[in-house]
Amino acid sequence: MKTSEEYIESLRKLNPTVYIKGNLVESVPDEPLLRPGINAISLTYDYALKPEYRDIMIATSHITGKEVSRLLHINTSKDDLLKKLEMTRLLCRTAGCAQRYLTHDALNSLYETTHKIDNELNTQYHPRLLDYLQHVQEKDLTTCIAMTDAKGNRSKRPHEQQDPDLYLRIVGKNSKGIVVRGVKAIVTGAPYTHEIIVLPTRAMTENDKDYAVSFAIPIDAKGVEMVSRQAGRPEDSGAELTSRYGQATAMILFDDVFVPWERVFLAGERPYAGSLTEAFATHHRLSCIGCRAGLGDMIIGATATMADYNGLDPQKVGHIREKIAELIKFVESFYACGVASSVFGKETPAGNFSPDPVYANIGKLLQGLHIYDMFKIAHETSGGILVTSPYPEDMEVPSLKERLSRYLKAREDIPADHRLKIARLLEDITASYQGGWYSVISIHGGGSPEAERMEIMRKYDLDERRSLVEKITGIRKTD
Ligand SMILES: Cc1cc2nc3c(=O)[nH]c(=O)nc-3n(C[C@H](O)[C@H](O)[C@H](O)COP(=O)(O)OP(=O)(O)OC[C@H]3O[C@@H](n4cnc5c(N)ncnc54)[C@H](O)[C@@H]3O)c2cc1C
Repeated sequence: MKTSEEYIESLRKLNPTVYIKGNLVESVPDEPLLRPGINAISLTYDYALKPEYRDIMIATSHITGKEVSRLLHINTSKDDLLKKLEMTRLLCRTAGCAQRYLTHDALNSLYETTHKIDNELNTQYHPRLLDYLQHVQEKDLTTCIAMTDAKGNRSKRPHEQQDPDLYLRIVGKNSKGIVVRGVKAIVTGAPYTHEIIVLPTRAMTENDKDYAVSFAIPIDAKGVEMVSRQAGRPEDSGAELTSRYGQATAMILFDDVFVPWERVFLAGERPYAGSLTEAFATHHRLSCIGCRAGLGDMIIGATATMADYNGLDPQKVGHIREKIAELIKFVESFYACGVASSVFGKETPAGNFSPDPVYANIGKLLQGLHIYDMFKIAHETSGGILVTSPYPEDMEVPSLKERLSRYLKAREDIPADHRLKIARLLEDITASYQGGWYSVISIHGGGSPEAERMEIMRKYDLDERRSLVEKITGIRKTD
């Protein structure tokens, strides 16, 4: 397995085309605007080598029998599902968003879907996926997952769009591979990953079959360009978390990109676009739960500390105690759905384990909606200091330092500097540009709430509940 230094060195061997703020990035590992994203992914490599996290971070590959990062592992038991959930929480309570579990979710969804396609159509996708899996595990790679297309007019299907390239599509096929054109609109961490795994974003009709496509390519493949946002708030001295850890998102433009057949996992078999989308969503929503529980840990800790530093003991002052209990309830209730989803996970015909979809979707829905309640409690409890504290540089001006430290003190025994650090952390993760990022990724990352509600209604056994009440009321005779 790679060390974080080796991960960064491996990025130097790649030459992706990345634009940020109108500039072409010369060297991704040396670009300050991407550094928090590189740091967050580095953490996944560091933690895998820490003896105390071994049980959670390391798994045994079922294809090679070797130890691999759990982030690249195919779940072979319910315990694997649970450990994946714990791992995402562990990583995200430090990094905020560690991105790399997306690779795990894509590999697992491709594992079960390629197996299904081969079984039903006699194709050869699954053996290719196994080769790819081995390549990713042995090189300990990080991939980004490009699923979300630009989509254009939301009320139209891909083939109905005025511009046919608003969803990524196959524009050519030959004996060597396929050629793809179009765009994937939102891809976390893309510039500082090794490869792109492309997945379809929705179920497709027969007329959309060119859009039913999945494959993997190197990040610097010919014809691939990225337009990226910065990762976190790297230049902001007050950004307690996101000057160190954060994620960039990029648009990826595909301009007639060639993909050799050995890297193609779906090419026009349109009924399976929906299966793949659904499988990915189920795995990924479990990751989203763990990830946001990690963020929740920071919010709970910082909110309780802020109240305490303000002089209001969170165990003793009634309304603060109530609010912290609410905060804990939000975080642990969506996390509990993740635990249930793992415990009730099932083996697929391919032999891997998939989370229970109803609990995975409910947990993801709860975290997406309650993030706003969590932020509200943090803001109400902390006071205006959350967004109004002087910049760290101002606190260092010799003529101001002593007075600012005096006036910004609350509890007598807590230095102002400590109170400000907690306030800045809460501002950073709940009320800054990054706070906004965390609320939007919570509600939309992994799918919109409506997508989750639809999936709950599809998978929940409503008929069984209806027949239960028919039996209770005698509308239907019991046996
Ligand atoms: C920070 C962040 C990181 C992300 N990272 C990744 C990533 O790494 N890889 C990736 O592939 N994706 C990523 N995503 C994308 C994410 O999966 C999408 O944002 C999500 O699926 C919603 O899609 P959308 O943004 O196109 O919104 P839309 O689909 O436009 O949704 C907006 C609203 O319109 C509604 N709507 C949409 N279509 C219809 C319709 N036909 N009929 C009725 N209502 C409709 C939705 O329910 C929603 O309420 C990320 C998103 C964020 C915010």
